[in-house]
Amino acid sequence: MEIIKILPQGLCKGVINAIHIVNNALEDPTIKKPIYMLGSLVHNQNIVRALSEQNVIILDGKSRLEMLDEITSGTVIFTAHGVSEETRKKARAKGLDIIDATCKDVKLSHDIIRNYLDAGYMILYYGMENHPEAEGVLGISPKITLIRNKDDIEALPAYEGKLALATQTTMSFLQAIELHQYLLKKYPQIKLIDEVCNSTRIRQQAVISQKGKLDLIIVVGDRKSNNTRMLKEVAEKEAGISAILVENVEDLKAYDLSAYERIGVTAGASTPNVIVQEIIEKLPKGDFNSELVSEDYLRPKR
Ligand code: SF4
Repeated sequence: MEIIKILPQGLCKGVINAIHIVNNALEDPTIKKPIYMLGSLVHNQNIVRALSEQNVIILDGKSRLEMLDEITSGTVIFTAHGVSEETRKKARAKGLDIIDATCKDVKLSHDIIRNYLDAGYMILYYGMENHPEAEGVLGISPKITLIRNKDDIEALPAYEGKLALATQTTMSFLQAIELHQYLLKKYPQIKLIDEVCNSTRIRQQAVISQKGKLDLIIVVGDRKSNNTRMLKEVAEKEAGISAILVENVEDLKAYDLSAYERIGVTAGASTPNVIVQEIIEKLPKGDFNSELVSEDYLRPKR
C-alpha cells in the first residue's frame, strides 16, 4: 500500500486569524464576562472544546439572531463565518461588547455582493442551506436568493434585469462554473462572482490533480465543515475517486482499507495537522509520499 499526503494541508489563514483574535481577547483582563460565541468559531470540535474549557459559552440555535436572544450582558464573539448586518445591529443594541473573528475573505465577499446590489443587481447565491456563512450573506438583502443545485435553478422565475451568481467561499469552484454555464441558458445576462477562497480552491485543485492516480481518498475534517464536505464531493465527482470522510482516528476503524493500493489523504481548512498525522500513523505501513500541487491556479489578487 502507498499513502500519499495531498498537500497543502493545515489550518487556513482565516482559521488561524480567528483563533488569534479570540485567544488575544481571552488574555485581556478587561474583557466583559460572560463571553459568548454565536456557534462554533470554526468547524472543528478540538478547537471548540479548547475554547469551552476557557469558559467561552458556545451557543447553538436556529440562527445567530435567535442565539442573541439568550444573551443579556457581556461579550459576544462572531465566528469566522461572519454574520448579517441585522445580527451586528442587534448585538450593539443589547449593549454587548463584540469580538469579530470573521475571515477577511468572507468580509470581502459581503462587500462585493453589496456593491453589486448597489449597482442594481439581483443576486443568486450558490451556498449551503443553514450554513452560518450563507445565513450571514442572505441577511444582507432580500434581493439575494440561495441556490444549491440545478433543481433550484429550474424553479426560478424568468428575469431580464441585472443578475449575478455569487458563491459561498467554501463551495466547489468547478461546480460554481458549471452552475453559471447552466444559468446562462436561462439568463444570458448573468455574471459570475466567484468568491471561492484560495484556501478552499487549492485544496480542491490538489485533489483533482490526483485523478487516475489513487484508489481512495481519505478526507479528514469535521462533518459540519463545508470545505471538508466539498473535498469529498470534489474527489468523487471531479476526480472520479472514491472518498471517505473521517473526523478522527476512531472513525477510521469503521473501514477495511486492505483492498486499496494507493490511498491519498487530504484535510479541510479547519483540520489541525496533528489529527491528520494521527490518522496517517494508523494506516497500514507502506511507501509514503507527499505531493504539493502548483499554485498557478490561485485566484488573482483583487
Ligand atoms: S476556508 Fe477560506 S473563507 Fe473559510 S476561514 Fe479559511 S480562508 Fe476564510
